[in-house]
Amino acid sequence: MLLDAKQKNRVKKTYKIKEIHYTLQGEGYHSGRPAIFCRFSGCNLWSGLEKDRPKAICQFCDTDFWGIDGNQGGKYKGAQLADLLDSLWPKNNTSNKFVVFTGGEPLLQLDTALCDQMHAIGFEIAVETNGTITPPEGIDWICMSPKANTDILLTTGHELKIVYPQRGIDPIDFEHMNFANRYLQPMDNEQQAENTKACVDYCKENPKWKLSVQTHKILNIP
Ligand code: SF4
Repeated sequence: MLLDAKQKNRVKKTYKIKEIHYTLQGEGYHSGRPAIFCRFSGCNLWSGLEKDRPKAICQFCDTDFWGIDGNQGGKYKGAQLADLLDSLWPKNNTSNKFVVFTGGEPLLQLDTALCDQMHAIGFEIAVETNGTITPPEGIDWICMSPKANTDILLTTGHELKIVYPQRGIDPIDFEHMNFANRYLQPMDNEQQAENTKACVDYCKENPKWKLSVQTHKILNIP
């Protein structure tokens, strides 16, 4: 069978995955929902190496997305990755299948071909992106968490989640965007208590916004 260029690319493409876990979504709109978390390796706003943090565009990152050495990490072809993700869902109950593609920045790698493969095996697809890359077709739930000093290309999605307070980010600048759900999530650093109070106060004064809490950290859900 002869393949056209697009088909050849699909066959060749390899996804670099940092780690994969079956867990509960810990924050935002889908908080508490069982989900397969698939963390892509790499981000366009920081290399992931501590030595590069001072010159990174995004400097407060608390996620290890460098390399492919985490749980089930590796390099996978699309069908292989889809099969692996599917194998982690409970065999005796295949309802409500949900995968969250995160990172790093998942839109550096996620494409329509992988979305198609996940849909074919019954998964609903969510993504957590920094909004600097235009998403491919086929994503069911787009959560954008914008970072200061970046060019935001995404203005439409399902969930906007701002880590707050964040120097250079004012939530009001995002209110005109087409997101049905808007969250402020306290910055996770030494000033966590003050950051949480700032989020609570802001939401009370600006009821378009809701508080997002990182329940997986509080409850220690792996
Ligand atoms: S955009 Fe997200 S993954 Fe990338 S460095 Fe910032 S917080 Fe980390």
